[in-house]
Amino acid sequence: MDSQDTIVAIATAPGEGGIGIVRLSGVNAEKFLKLYFNSAGNHCQFTSHRLYYGQFRHTDGDLVDEVMAVIMRAPRSYTMEDVVEVHCHGGSVVLRRIVDLFIDAGARLARPGEFTLRAFLNGRIDLTRAEAVIEVIRSRSEAACRVALGQLEGRLSQKLFSFRDDISDLLAEVEAGIDFPEEELPLIDRQRLIETSTYLEGQMAALLDSFESGRLLRDGLSILIFGKPNVGKSSLMNTLLGEARTIVSDIPGTTRDTVEESLILRGMPLRLIDTAGVRQTLDPVEIQGVERAQAKVAGVDLVLLVVDGSQALDEDDQKALQSCDPARTLLVLNKQDLGDSHLPTEFLPLPAFSISARSSFGIDQLLNGIVSFFSKSAGSEGRETTLLSDRRHRESLLLARNALERFRVCLAEDQPSEFGALELREALQALGEITGETAPEDILEKIFTRFCIGK
Ligand code: GDP
Ligand code: ZN
Repeated sequence: MDSQDTIVAIATAPGEGGIGIVRLSGVNAEKFLKLYFNSAGNHCQFTSHRLYYGQFRHTDGDLVDEVMAVIMRAPRSYTMEDVVEVHCHGGSVVLRRIVDLFIDAGARLARPGEFTLRAFLNGRIDLTRAEAVIEVIRSRSEAACRVALGQLEGRLSQKLFSFRDDISDLLAEVEAGIDFPEEELPLIDRQRLIETSTYLEGQMAALLDSFESGRLLRDGLSILIFGKPNVGKSSLMNTLLGEARTIVSDIPGTTRDTVEESLILRGMPLRLIDTAGVRQTLDPVEIQGVERAQAKVAGVDLVLLVVDGSQALDEDDQKALQSCDPARTLLVLNKQDLGDSHLPTEFLPLPAFSISARSSFGIDQLLNGIVSFFSKSAGSEGRETTLLSDRRHRESLLLARNALERFRVCLAEDQPSEFGALELREALQALGEITGETAPEDILEKIFTRFCIGK
């Protein structure tokens, strides 16, 4: 990347809008603005961070739009470079013309996430905070947004930086020992280092443990609606969708025989998965056998095992039951409007809910059951605590913790200090990959290409 480039992009979402914003960042941002922008009484002097009203004109004098423009001079800007924003009418023709004129002047169209990449490369934010930007934009529930905002504020990076500092201190002590090889570390020092390491490992383990909550809050609880054909799985899915205040989107199922919907129910982000379009003999329980069903069940957080509660349960219901993990299964006795059946003992340990997908009877209680499962899994965290919610972060933190553990073993076994130092450096490297201090190019590339253009 050439940091001398001045980049330009439309920052607002595509489509019609009251206002559209074109954003520029780089050394020539102000110069380019002045080529086209005329504000009465302000021919050349603009105060930083002040919005000016004026005309945006082609160099031949042709009016492009009436706009407001602001200059945010380095380093007090999103990218820490000179940033210019032009607020125009939110129509695609105007926006595109303004961008084209800036490109004529010498600006380059920004790549996805390039503004945020610059903020990161210029040291305004670390990588976890840069990643949080896109998470905030993408978050679909308040819970997910809260997790992302915490990360954007730098809560996660503060924690990681404190791990880094403590490990650097350990490394300094160990390296001091390497410089005087005749004197191995005295026992008392070793004991102290072991204690520090143990403490740090514990802190990291606690953060790693928060991943489950973080993931649930961020991605939502995945729920598979499961059972033999005709018990009312799709009807239940529709009833639940009908209860939802927000249906976030249609996500095509991971395989062709599933339908997936994201929704917010009672504030919980949920992903409902129905085995739809699969009729009779094609149903997973019937022909694909227990194994296939188990794979499906294993991939989700919670299973709603649906049976026809008005009928005696049969072998197919038993088969479906066998695929389920009782700790993550709620039994749904559907078609309550047609009568109740007697539950065979194998089903008794499961929390059971008598419902009618048709009349909505019992749906409230079922939702209570899902809520309590969700709170049990996600905890009441997310407000003040720091949560780990990203797989990439988890993997690197795991590497760091393991390296620290090996370091402790080195000390306990009184191995040469060099070995211990090596482990500490590995731990530092792993932490640096999370915050971006030591993240290789390809990781950066992968992260920033997930962004939208203009951010
Ligand atoms: P799936 O194959 O498990 O997805 O089942 P469907 O949702 O397609 O439902 C199968 C049949 O059962 C349909 O004719 C539904 O109208 C009916 N059905 C579903 N839920 C109820 C219910 O609560 N009460 C009654 N009486 N019929 C239901
Ligand atoms: Zn169905």
